[in-house]
Amino acid sequence: MSDVARKLIAVLIVVAGALLLWISKGFYTDAEDARNLTKDTVAAAREREASNDPRLKNSYKFERGGWAYVHLEGDPATIGFQHGYLLAPEIEDAFPAVSTGMMHSTKRDWPFFREMARVQLWPKLDPEYQQELEGIVEGLNARTGSPLDVYDIVALNAFEEVPDYYVPWLDKQEKKANAPNLKSPGNCSAFVATGSWTKDGQIVIAHNNWTSYMNGERWRIMFDIQPAQGYRILMDGFPGVIASDDDFGINSDGLMVTETTITQFEGWDPNGKPEFMRARKALQYAGSIDDYTRIMLDGNNGGYANDWLLGDRKTGEIAQLELGLKASKLWRTKDGAFAGSNWARDPKVLKLDTPQFDPNNMETSPNARRARWDQLLNENKGKIDVALAQGMLSDHVDTFQKKIEANERTLCGHVDNNARGVAVWTWGPYYPGGAVQGKATDSNMTKQMRLVARSGHPCGDNFQAKPFLAAHPEYAWQEPYLRDMNAGPWTVFGSGEPRGTN
Ligand SMILES: [Zn+2]
Repeated sequence: MSDVARKLIAVLIVVAGALLLWISKGFYTDAEDARNLTKDTVAAAREREASNDPRLKNSYKFERGGWAYVHLEGDPATIGFQHGYLLAPEIEDAFPAVSTGMMHSTKRDWPFFREMARVQLWPKLDPEYQQELEGIVEGLNARTGSPLDVYDIVALNAFEEVPDYYVPWLDKQEKKANAPNLKSPGNCSAFVATGSWTKDGQIVIAHNNWTSYMNGERWRIMFDIQPAQGYRILMDGFPGVIASDDDFGINSDGLMVTETTITQFEGWDPNGKPEFMRARKALQYAGSIDDYTRIMLDGNNGGYANDWLLGDRKTGEIAQLELGLKASKLWRTKDGAFAGSNWARDPKVLKLDTPQFDPNNMETSPNARRARWDQLLNENKGKIDVALAQGMLSDHVDTFQKKIEANERTLCGHVDNNARGVAVWTWGPYYPGGAVQGKATDSNMTKQMRLVARSGHPCGDNFQAKPFLAAHPEYAWQEPYLRDMNAGPWTVFGSGEPRGTN
């Protein structure tokens, strides 16, 4: 008898038992109660059965400081199964929120995204990542019976690149009338520094993730991945997604990685490979800045175009890879600092890939934050360490108004605080978005595979959904998914944290 058949029979026996109990005792007079009991019994039996799956051996999950930490270990299919199983509740919570956001902004339905994932993204994925994604579906389904299939999960993995890069490109190709005004997102504030800029002369890297609160509230997974091939990874991430995607991660060969997106980037190459796969692959397999750059450029599709900030703790060298589609540029140094706040700076990238972006308008969020990074990094030259980095990620200085006010121009973003919104990203007035969590590490911590992270606004402020929605009914469509975003404490995480500690 096959495993599946055995499991099915086991479930049926439990169901039959429950029904017998119901009939014999006449305990439930209400048919609704009986149906719920049956459903609950089936679900409990399924979950019990799945929890005994040998593929879950060596994997585990615990909650700390507002983060869900998962340790995944094994071949690609096994890592995927563990991911899908351990994070099933988080995936089932995140999927409706993300897919609703994708459909709302693009005015496309979900079958459109599934079809795009099936026809265009899936065939371009390396087999090991196909296996991992199939594993996620299998683990998720084994635990909850979720109807989500692999194309739903691939579309979820592409939630940064398809709605804001592929769709506007497609709308243009199709000369679509009344196409929505879609702009590449402005995600994140980050820096990397080394040499005479830091306290110990080694690398310091830090990043806060800017996104809608609806998505950001769910961007609270700490992934410790021990793959059968490639380097060990510690990264923050999103339920059901194989890349960090915001991005912040380190690997066991000493690579330190983050990025901020390029504002007003335009372009898509339908022959390229999905960005989420290249980003995951680069973190898993790159042992140097050169390796990282090569993997990101191989099949560059233009999706989720970023300024990558990199460090190699083995050499103390840092780099900035401005990855446009028509142009790209790599800067590197063993004595300097690179910052990111969603602006491109290479003249060729500016001209060819971001034709609408104005680098001189100091009123906009990317340029105002760029000015603040310049001030902060220069003021603290020679003193920069992880503790200072945490403070920088929490900074509320608005360089345009020359005052302290948590808003869309501050390194710790609070776009919901005022009526300006961020036009260059098509974020409207009081858009519920901004900095949703922060992370930092340095060379020494990376050697020990450790980083420090805070869930929620890096400054520690809390966002409250109910009063916000009452004041801003234009965001009522987010009501089913938007919830309070309370900041956790700055919390240190390492690879192989003892399981079950809280
Ligand atoms: Zn703040």
